[in-house]
Amino acid sequence: MTVRTRPDLATLPAYVPGRSIPGAIKLASNEVSAGPLPSVVQAIADAATAINRYPDSAAVELTTRLSEKLGVPAETIAVGCGSVSLCQQLVQATCTESDDVLFAWRSFEAYPIVTHVAGAGQVRVPLTDGHVHDLDAMAAAIRPKTRMVFVCNPNNPTGTAVTTEQIEAFIEKVPSDVLVVLDEAYKEFVDDPDVPDGVELAKAQWAKGRDNVAVLRTFSKAYGLAGLRVGYAVAPPAVAEALRKVFVPFSVNALAQVAALASLDAEDELMVRCRAIVAERGRVRDELVSAGFEVPVSQANFVWLPLGERTAAFNEHCLSHKVVVRAFAGEGCRVTIGEPEENDAFLAAALSFNS
Ligand code: PMP
Repeated sequence: MTVRTRPDLATLPAYVPGRSIPGAIKLASNEVSAGPLPSVVQAIADAATAINRYPDSAAVELTTRLSEKLGVPAETIAVGCGSVSLCQQLVQATCTESDDVLFAWRSFEAYPIVTHVAGAGQVRVPLTDGHVHDLDAMAAAIRPKTRMVFVCNPNNPTGTAVTTEQIEAFIEKVPSDVLVVLDEAYKEFVDDPDVPDGVELAKAQWAKGRDNVAVLRTFSKAYGLAGLRVGYAVAPPAVAEALRKVFVPFSVNALAQVAALASLDAEDELMVRCRAIVAERGRVRDELVSAGFEVPVSQANFVWLPLGERTAAFNEHCLSHKVVVRAFAGEGCRVTIGEPEENDAFLAAALSFNS
């Protein structure tokens, strides 16, 4: 007899991480290319002397700090092992097997995976032709079984974002027992004033008695801590409490907690880096558009090239120039904005592909 694993997992695709190839420039995982700040490295080194002890499973110091920074009660915050973990916890916290999660497609590839693993059903609503969330179609797709909606803003992998007005109009149409999750992994790269700060938007909704809006944030992108795995949800207290119940105990490790706190101390410096990435994003997009590529306006630290059937060839061409981008078969390539010289290397590859 052999061990029987869940038969339904056989057809479930595994999460495909961006590839690292020795000697090549990696622009495949939406990381920040600049290394950690010395102050953050020091905080990690100091904390390393105590790793014989379990971390604070409730991450009290980090939670308190976030609650002060965001102006929300600590009870509305749930810290997690990366925001991807919180995506899974959100499904576990809201859905049973007879329930559905709704999200746009294409969007963050973990949504279908965590939804399936948690045992819930899923409904995918295509993006508009402009690669943006079709919130009207999403509202229309809500069924009695729908318990939760992910709105990835800005959207991974297209970089497009929906506005405050659009999200507020959407929330109006969502039944109050369906949780709307604004996934803001890339929030710090937004420079369009019409795109909301999800936490402020959620607070305004809560103040109106709408307790069905939550926000996901991460330290992996703008804060440069992808390797340490820490993110958080800001959610109505009952949802945050449920998230803590489905949390794998101790899964936000001690070094991640101190690094997140040290990053909050160094926030100004990190945000200067983000602004430089935003400026580079504009430069990269302008050059690509001038060369004839379609590139939706991005509010994230990456750009999307909807290359369709040319995707694989473009990916191979970039690899031959030692630049690793992220290809989505038959759809397009997502390219992270790196340091100026990395972006130059990518542009050299891209521009020679088109000619
Ligand atoms: N949400 C979105 C939209 C993302 O793109 C990612 C990372 N690719 C995450 C969540 C998860 O990030 P992390 O688990 O590193 O916090």
